[in-house]
Amino acid sequence: MSDYKNKNKNTNKNKNTRNKNSSTGRYKAGAEKGTGRKRPAAAAKKTQSSDRRGAAVVKHKHKSAEPARSARKEQVRPVRAARSKQKPVKAQRHRSDAPVRVIPLGGLHEIGKNMTAIEYGDEVMIIDCGLSFPDDDMFGIDKVIPDFTYITTCGKKIRGLVITHGHEDHIGGVPYLLKQLNVPVYGMQFPLGLIRNKLEEHGMQAEMHQIRPGEVFRLGDSFRIEALRITHSIADSICLKIDTPAGVIFHTGDFKIDYTPVDGNKIDFARLAQIGSEGVLLMMADSTNVMRPGYTRSEMKVGETLDPIFRSSRSRIIIATFSSNVHRIQRIIDIAIRCKRKVAISGRSMVNVFELAKELGYIRIPDNMLVDLNDTRKIPDHELVIITTGSQGEPMSALARMASMEHKTIRIKKGDMVILSSTPVPGNELTVSNVVDQLIEKGAEVIYSDIAETHVSGHACREELKLMHSLIRPRFFMPVHGEYRHLQKHAQLAEYLGMSSRDIFILSNGDALTLTGSSAKKQAGAVQADAIMVDGLGVGDVGNIVLRDRRLLSEAGLIIVSAAIDWQARKLVAGPDVITRGFVYVRENEDLIDATCQVAKETIENALSKNVNDWNAIRTSVRESVKRFIYGRTKRTPIILPIFQEV
Ligand SMILES: [Zn+2]
Ligand SMILES: [Zn+2]
Repeated sequence: MSDYKNKNKNTNKNKNTRNKNSSTGRYKAGAEKGTGRKRPAAAAKKTQSSDRRGAAVVKHKHKSAEPARSARKEQVRPVRAARSKQKPVKAQRHRSDAPVRVIPLGGLHEIGKNMTAIEYGDEVMIIDCGLSFPDDDMFGIDKVIPDFTYITTCGKKIRGLVITHGHEDHIGGVPYLLKQLNVPVYGMQFPLGLIRNKLEEHGMQAEMHQIRPGEVFRLGDSFRIEALRITHSIADSICLKIDTPAGVIFHTGDFKIDYTPVDGNKIDFARLAQIGSEGVLLMMADSTNVMRPGYTRSEMKVGETLDPIFRSSRSRIIIATFSSNVHRIQRIIDIAIRCKRKVAISGRSMVNVFELAKELGYIRIPDNMLVDLNDTRKIPDHELVIITTGSQGEPMSALARMASMEHKTIRIKKGDMVILSSTPVPGNELTVSNVVDQLIEKGAEVIYSDIAETHVSGHACREELKLMHSLIRPRFFMPVHGEYRHLQKHAQLAEYLGMSSRDIFILSNGDALTLTGSSAKKQAGAVQADAIMVDGLGVGDVGNIVLRDRRLLSEAGLIIVSAAIDWQARKLVAGPDVITRGFVYVRENEDLIDATCQVAKETIENALSKNVNDWNAIRTSVRESVKRFIYGRTKRTPIILPIFQEV
């Protein structure tokens, strides 16, 4: 996530327009033949050898990468010879005719709330469970999570949830899922730490299994998973090689190819190439940056940009970035220490993630270099760096409060140097530029991504995607993690690299891709996969009708018409009174309000004189007459709410 604000539409809608697939076979089959790639069953055979290995398969626990590595060696040899055989052994033992179904429940036609189920027979595994942030027209909605309807119907079939990394669009839905179902969670240390913090906020606990890169573990009888390190904009990101009875599914997770990662944990390209040559049935790959040519710069680049800025400045430095990017925070700390500046941390999410990362050893800082935000006044400006949230201009964030002089400890003053180590995600440009303007007005010097390379993306650009495709060389391909245009562009890229359009599948959330050892077929609308809105403690209780009312309220406000009626005497005894909110300023529009009262009065009296006996009928006619009158006078359509009291 993190590079994009989710533009969540109800992704299960409009399938017909979306599922055009990539059947415009432009680069087509010639190249496919040339590569001679028909290797679906290779992986299945390998599953056989790995089954026998039993002891080498690590189950559930912390363990060194060694067993996995020795396991790898075993896998290498028999693969080529095995390609002629097509029968997955697991499938025989389990239920030979059953296909494997890959069911995305979120993350397609959107960048956000990633979640995918893989189903075989009576076993299901889940990859990621994220959230997305609401669109501008989702009034009052805090977050949006995937639809768990299908998952809850699976119930006991679910063997586990595997987390690729700790961004919100991959872990944000976990507490909501675990409230409905007790599912064991598998992930690397850092994302599990972030999930644990979330669960604590919800007063929950969960069964968690920490995995290490290179580790191989099983979920049920059907899934054997190898977790491999991948580089991204958060620590401990993995991609997944999943052995299924139909063949190997390779999921890239979110990734970029960073040859010089800050933590030194590089991608094992040799292993990726080996996986590719052993045969991959299906690849699912990150499509976020498929529109961008070239390569994403290394995270190191940000440090190279910041270093001279820190060195040359005599000012107080305030730097805003994503709290989850602990590598960048570490780089900022390193540079600060070199420049003999002390570091203070600001913003709730920054403090939380910083504490966790420090505790787990992802961030290292000598105690004497860290200062409490409240003590920063005692430090000379040129000896201080404040790392803060708010790089997206979020209104309640620490940086926005500093810019509007509402922060309780930090006031922006002339000469401050403010660095935004981020780029505004689409949709946030305006809020970011507002904050920048406010900062400049207060006399700060502001450096942001338009001025210097203070940010690099966490997602692979086209050349990196090409490398991944060339290493993995899947039989079938499903682009994931993108809006429709990204998925479609990624499909085209795969064709350009030689895949047949028939082997590329663009799915929508709720569709299923049915895989056997040698075929793949899309099933549209296989399961329910709506966008579930979360508002405060309410999950899914706000739907389209409530949202429509909120939109109407926000557009034209509310008029309440209240009256007391003596039902026996068929007489209006009090009112009608008119109260408005968000419609017009009453004191300056008394005539309009009086006239509205008059319209309501006539309507009620008219209905009573005609012996209308139905409260609802009177309500409706008041609503209609007031609506007509207001529209005629103002061309506005506020919500009109008649409230009658019987006396
Ligand atoms: Zn993501
Ligand atoms: Zn991510």
